[in-house]
Amino acid sequence: MSVRKVVAIGDPLLRRRTREVSPEEIASPEIQQLIDDLVETKRATHGAGIAANQVGEPVRVAIVEVEEDNRRYPYKPPEPLTVLINPTIEPLTDEMIEINEGCLSVPDLRGTLRRHLEIRVRYLDREGTGREEVKRGLTAGTYQHEVDHLDGILFVDRADPQTFATWEQFDRHQRDEFVRRVARLNEELGA
Ligand code: ZN
Repeated sequence: MSVRKVVAIGDPLLRRRTREVSPEEIASPEIQQLIDDLVETKRATHGAGIAANQVGEPVRVAIVEVEEDNRRYPYKPPEPLTVLINPTIEPLTDEMIEINEGCLSVPDLRGTLRRHLEIRVRYLDREGTGREEVKRGLTAGTYQHEVDHLDGILFVDRADPQTFATWEQFDRHQRDEFVRRVARLNEELGA
């Protein structure tokens, strides 16, 4: 396993739709190694998730994992390590929530955008088994962020530019109100 270099906004790889992984390919050493590298890179950089094109591989593989007290996003509910291959997302209601996000590929910037409150995510796991789960709230937002990556979309495309802030300025001016709001949301959702 190795920690891979995370490519930054401006790299065309982040702007291209990634390709599907075939069922036979999932068991290959290349894809299994990529998954291990994504896990290690995500943990080393304290992200909530990472997509394969962020480490230079244009395939539809991403992971989500939020540890207890995640260093970058301590207000996010914990989410176990989930390996997503060829994921698709279906919104389950029209309801949207405002989430402030950051991204490992967009250094020192945060912004507020709207995400679906409740989604169904379908994907293959690293054994190639088909899975289907319902996600809500900030967790649903994390899944939408990662699947966006695989489609060449970054959070800055969806965010209101008026809300852009460095992490320091977010802490100074936006963090308290946002954390209060998401604490209420987490409580409502039992997250
Ligand atoms: Zn990202």
